[in-house]
Amino acid sequence: MYIVTIDIEKCKACGDCVENCAVQALAIVEENGKKFAMFTGNPDDCLGCLSCEEVCEEGAVTVTEY
Ligand code: SF4
Ligand code: SF4
Repeated sequence: MYIVTIDIEKCKACGDCVENCAVQALAIVEENGKKFAMFTGNPDDCLGCLSCEEVCEEGAVTVTEY
């Protein structure tokens, strides 16, 4: 399985990772007035394809196998 970590300080909420996830496991959420991407799928949804990590120009996404 994989864990997808998003650094909300780096995230610009551009949505590129959301659009590139083949299993729709990511979403833009808003908390305390700040928008950022979050892994909202089931833990076993992620394929570990790294598309989200590769597409993020801010370097905000880290996919780790565990
Ligand atoms: S691609 Fe990066 S900056 Fe854009 S929403 Fe995803 S994590 Fe945030
Ligand atoms: S690694 Fe692939 S399947 Fe997993 S959240 Fe990122 S884009 Fe989606």
